[in-house]
Amino acid sequence: LTRLYSPLTALASARMDVMSAMVSFERVFEVLDLKPLIAEAPGARDVPPGPVSVELRNVSFGYPSADKVSLASLEEVAVLDTRGGETVLHDIDFRVEPGQMVALVGSSGAGKSTVAQLIPRLYDVDAGHVLLNGVDVRELTAASIRGTVGLVTQDGHLFHESVRANLLLARPEAGEGELWDALRKARLDGLIASLPDGLDTVVGERGYRLSGGERQRLTIARLLLAQPRVVILDEATAHLDSTSEAAVQEALTEALAGRTSVVIAHRLSTIRAADQILVVEAGRIVERGTHTELLAAGGRYEQLYRTQFADSGPKPPAMAPILEA
Ligand code: ADP
Ligand code: MG
Repeated sequence: LTRLYSPLTALASARMDVMSAMVSFERVFEVLDLKPLIAEAPGARDVPPGPVSVELRNVSFGYPSADKVSLASLEEVAVLDTRGGETVLHDIDFRVEPGQMVALVGSSGAGKSTVAQLIPRLYDVDAGHVLLNGVDVRELTAASIRGTVGLVTQDGHLFHESVRANLLLARPEAGEGELWDALRKARLDGLIASLPDGLDTVVGERGYRLSGGERQRLTIARLLLAQPRVVILDEATAHLDSTSEAAVQEALTEALAGRTSVVIAHRLSTIRAADQILVVEAGRIVERGTHTELLAAGGRYEQLYRTQFADSGPKPPAMAPILEA
């Protein structure tokens, strides 16, 4: 056991264990249609029809600590993320009106992705409420939340299944033409067409290895197919080169039109288009307003803008992303 003799290697590999455990954990629960600690209330109902408002009302949240989660039936999960326990969101309060766009900005670790994950109820809050159309997500069915809220994350989460199966998850009744249309808009049609098994190519950890950018484009294609009423983009184009980013951004902008959305973005053009910008620092909203209002206020946003936004110039260096790629 090299581990015993090499503490540094052991540390590095422990981190890998944690990371792959997080991935498997998510997948296991998604496959079982369950989430840790998340249960559907008896008599849960569907998200009401029509345009959807999204609201976080005085939300405080900390990730569940490892000792609170039972792993008895999950052989695949070797190690659980050990960071849990601390409060990472404090009294978060905002509302997105139907059809509007809210942008979250702030430094790495501020809590933006955590906010994104609470909206489709990947975790339950410790205090306050997450509401879709005024109904607490804890009173809604898991299936209707999933059908209402589309989330694209930085990692581009995929199932170990064919490209076709990954896409059909979004809309089981979609025809072949619609699948290719979504792939084309996400600029992934060329690659998939070039694979020997085409749409039937199995992707994921043990299948055809897609790059980070390709995974992200496939989850974007899934979003374009699903056309959910609420769209949450968490650095959805972070792994794309600037040429495909511009093209994919165009498809995303189209997909966002008229929908309620929460975006975590680095591009000034996206942030500027938001109806409201929330500046998040250390788990709190420290400023809010439109781009113009916040610039005029000369506070934290103005500082971020001056030091980090570079829409026309090159992207900020990867090591110092205050507004992340
Ligand atoms: P951002 O997206 O703004 O970079 P995050 O929401 O990812 O920030 O992280 C907010 C805080 O929550 C950080 O301190 C981070 O370490 C912690 N955190 C993120 N994910 C987890 C997790 N799965 N378990 C425990 N802590 C987490
Ligand atoms: Mg994040």
